[in-house]
Amino acid sequence: MGKSFDIGLDRLTGTGVPGIGETQEGGLNPPLQVAGDAESTFYLETFGCQMNDHDSEKVAGVLLARGYRQVDGPEAAKVILYNTCSIREKAAQKVFSRLGELRPMDERQGKSSNTEDTEEERRVHGDGQVLEKNHPSLRKIVNAAGGKIIGVLGCVAQQEGEEIFERAPWVSLVCGSASYRKLPQLIAELEAGNRRVTGLDTDTDETFETEITRRDNPWRAYLTIIEGCDKACSYCVVPFTRGPERSRASASILEEVRRLADAGYSEVQLLGQTVNSYADPSMRKMRFSELLAAVAEVSGIRRVRFTTSHPRDFGKDIVEVIEAHPNICDHVHLPVQSGSTTVLRAMARTYSREEYLEKIALMKAARRPISITTDMIVGFPGETEKDFEETLALLDEVQYDSVFAFKYSPRPNTPSLKMADAIPEEEKGRRLAILMDRQREIQRAQNEKLVGETFEVLVDGKSRRDNQWSGHTSSNRVMNFTSPERELLGDYVQVKVVSAMPNSLVGEMVGRA
Ligand code: SAM
Ligand code: SF4
Repeated sequence: MGKSFDIGLDRLTGTGVPGIGETQEGGLNPPLQVAGDAESTFYLETFGCQMNDHDSEKVAGVLLARGYRQVDGPEAAKVILYNTCSIREKAAQKVFSRLGELRPMDERQGKSSNTEDTEEERRVHGDGQVLEKNHPSLRKIVNAAGGKIIGVLGCVAQQEGEEIFERAPWVSLVCGSASYRKLPQLIAELEAGNRRVTGLDTDTDETFETEITRRDNPWRAYLTIIEGCDKACSYCVVPFTRGPERSRASASILEEVRRLADAGYSEVQLLGQTVNSYADPSMRKMRFSELLAAVAEVSGIRRVRFTTSHPRDFGKDIVEVIEAHPNICDHVHLPVQSGSTTVLRAMARTYSREEYLEKIALMKAARRPISITTDMIVGFPGETEKDFEETLALLDEVQYDSVFAFKYSPRPNTPSLKMADAIPEEEKGRRLAILMDRQREIQRAQNEKLVGETFEVLVDGKSRRDNQWSGHTSSNRVMNFTSPERELLGDYVQVKVVSAMPNSLVGEMVGRA
């Protein structure tokens, strides 16, 4: 369940980027310290959205600054951390499945006289995927896990809190995203003999001010400008897991952007669950569009992206700022969730289909083409065949460049849990498949229209095959291209499109940008 698909533009992630962990000379990244104490190693695995990716950069920064060394696998780590996502049930289950792999031997042996897995064990392993108890490779990991600190961070930590200790007693640290600055202190408490520690505050803005962020991408830097969410969509756990909206002062954001530019980063991405609901807490009281313009005006910044925008707070001022600043990327991710006003009301999305389409019209009227992408949920309780048809019709009308579609997943504490007329899983799957097929054809046609055009591409990937590179256009399309150049990573180049696929473009380099 919860199957999602991503056809087309990637979601502003740093996926496929080489040089992970590389730093630039004089950059903001802390030097990768080899800890004096060989024990001070950590392994960090991230699940979920790019806000989580960025949170992990902060966590890694905090630990590296204190002499910890990052390792590639849980076997070699003293501290094992999972930065988790609970947006859909499947995402949350994945984490418990990982934790199941780390169950210590004695915990397992206590239960191993019983050849049947208990209900509890199935829950821990997640999604009916029961791991074989005496599998040699599993035993190796489990043995290696002895004496380690195992921590759950992020949304599952915030949502499940101390219950995680019940479900996986070998976990000793549970910490939500607002408390990452406290991590070294929490780990020190564990090393001093405390059995279990938690950091579960949600209403602190400490999270913006982690003093060091270990950035995974040497060209593109993420910056959280607003944390939490006040929108209360009836299906969503984010307001519970990330707390209320807190914005970061504009002067502090701009200062960081200047430092990033000085350090050689050419692209910044402003992040927030509802990034355009930004409300400057300082006396300057900058609106989101003003902040966007000010970021774009920082010398050395060649690309500015922002995500995710909420339709309610998306106005003409944002489109005007995009038009006025060529270095603000021509891409807006504007999640709609459903094409039916009835379903939108039940979702408490605060806009109707018509109001959403007015926002789309603002972008379609812009002086340069703006690529529009969205999120959709199928099978929300009570969604009729007619409602679903309206969602399909919206695809045709808007002609999105990419859609992230999800089957509705009931989540704890959310109002939609109690709604009548749940849609059977099979039907959700059928609707998702229809939506995907329809959207794939739209993207194929959209991308084919681009053959023959030339785009600026930030090169962020190199294939093992000679002369093959990849990167992103300003509209965030993936471009795979050929060039005989020896080194292009991090460069801006001009690429002519020679063919198109639903998810990407294929081109050849025609010059430097
Ligand atoms: N704040 C953003 C917004 O308002 O659109 C999105 C945040 S959420 C992390 C990303 C996407 O997950 C949502 O746009 C929605 O499509 C999907 N999502 C959230 N809760 C869901 C649920 N209970 N079931 C299925 N999909 C869900
Ligand atoms: Fe969740 Fe809605 Fe907030 Fe987005 S706006 S994070 S979907 S509650």
